[in-house]
Amino acid sequence: MRRRRLLLAAGGLAALPRAAFAADPDVVIIGAGVAGLTAARTLMAAGKSVQVIEARDRIGGRTFTDAKTFGLPFDHGAQWIEAANKNPAMAIVKEAQARTIPERDEQLLYLGGTVLPKDEYARFEKIAQEASRKLEEALKRAPPQFGDAVVGRVLVPADQLQTLAYSMVGPLEQGVENMELSARDFLRQPEADPQLSIEGGLGTMIARWGAKVPVRLGVRAVRIDSTGATITIETTAGQMRGRAVIVTVPTGVLATGLLGFAPQLNAARREAIEQLPMATYNKVMLQFSSKVIDAPAGRSIVGLTRKGAPFEAIVRPMGRDAALILVGGATARALEEEGGRAAVAFAVSALAEIFGNELRGVLGASHATRWGKDPFARGSWSVARPGHADKRKVLALPHHDRVFFAGEATDPVWATRVAGAYASGVRAAREALAALGAPRR
Ligand SMILES: Cc1cc2nc3c(=O)[nH]c(=O)nc-3n(C[C@H](O)[C@H](O)[C@H](O)COP(=O)(O)OP(=O)(O)OC[C@H]3O[C@@H](n4cnc5c(N)ncnc54)[C@H](O)[C@@H]3O)c2cc1C
Repeated sequence: MRRRRLLLAAGGLAALPRAAFAADPDVVIIGAGVAGLTAARTLMAAGKSVQVIEARDRIGGRTFTDAKTFGLPFDHGAQWIEAANKNPAMAIVKEAQARTIPERDEQLLYLGGTVLPKDEYARFEKIAQEASRKLEEALKRAPPQFGDAVVGRVLVPADQLQTLAYSMVGPLEQGVENMELSARDFLRQPEADPQLSIEGGLGTMIARWGAKVPVRLGVRAVRIDSTGATITIETTAGQMRGRAVIVTVPTGVLATGLLGFAPQLNAARREAIEQLPMATYNKVMLQFSSKVIDAPAGRSIVGLTRKGAPFEAIVRPMGRDAALILVGGATARALEEEGGRAAVAFAVSALAEIFGNELRGVLGASHATRWGKDPFARGSWSVARPGHADKRKVLALPHHDRVFFAGEATDPVWATRVAGAYASGVRAAREALAALGAPRR
């Protein structure tokens, strides 16, 4: 169905007036998330002129910090720089001179509101370690034509503790259920530790770091035509031209077909877009008017609610009377569908099972993200369907003449993360530089 919509959208558009963009830049970049901003900065450093167009009224894409509502920074999207000792996006942290806060790795585990007895933690550790080993073995045994394994077929929980451990592979880590998760796509990802958060919020850092990039906000690209001598980009603010284009929009947006291409995207890329759908992972921030949570600052919790839904929580972040609840996969999708205050109600109830019902009476401000319903993201990050981890490389290939693809989904190692967006932005900028230097085909 997605593919049909893509074909329809590639059809003609009525001619739009020429937009009031300063001059025809060397490179037009679609999207001012980490990938687009990185590509722009790389090209600018090489002396090229760029123009970024961004559908939202802000830069940063899936990184955004609300620094006002809760009296502490609330990152709606990316929050942590994972695998910090080798994460390419540490380059941003250094350039922005941002201060980092190391994440404590100890977590308390809860089943149905009850903390796991101390002697069960060793068993939990063992389950987690064995899960990785089982997945690696399943990959080795995979039939060559498939070359992959479905995580949910390998990790079949026999009890609640295993259910909790396995939910930290799919729903709470990748934002999809294990039956939707490719073992190959999961195992390619570097281990998250060491993990850092950014003082003032990761979104704040990106907004500051990207501030000097020329971005037209509130302008949506609707069609990229690379059939002529220069590339024409139809936008909601008129038409513009460039010698090369870098497309950084998420696969969820590409799948809608609302961004058309001439010539149309080839079958292999359309297949890649379809096989790299968006996961759903959301955050709920709750503020309380008094200290109802009896826990040290920044305590991290992972648990299953009494109804068996997995969740993660950071309670009393920065010592405040607040809590951040994280949900992914089917739980996150269902809460988005329910709409209204469903996600807040879920978060309050999950915490009340642990800390008591008093917290219901002192609930102050709250906010739940809805990345799946966000028209310019359509989910949290890309996940490969089982058997399709290699599609990231297909998505990263140039399209036609001088149209390049970046964005987290295109990175073979760091996809899903800020690191993937950054690495892909550098790669696409280099491709564009090479093309600008090369004689036109
Ligand atoms: C809840 C959540 C938590 C996360 N946590 C982490 C984390 O802790 N660590 C981590 O490393 N990663 C995390 N991520 C993932 C990380 O945020 C993304 O991988 C990364 O920000 C993606 O950057 P990008 O540039 O590829 O895409 P985006 O940030 O999505 O940028 C693409 C831009 O294109 C714009 N756009 C879309 N369509 C159009 C159009 N037609 N015309 C013009 N502009 C358009 C969008 O508005 C957007 O600004 C998280 C994501 C979410 C949602």
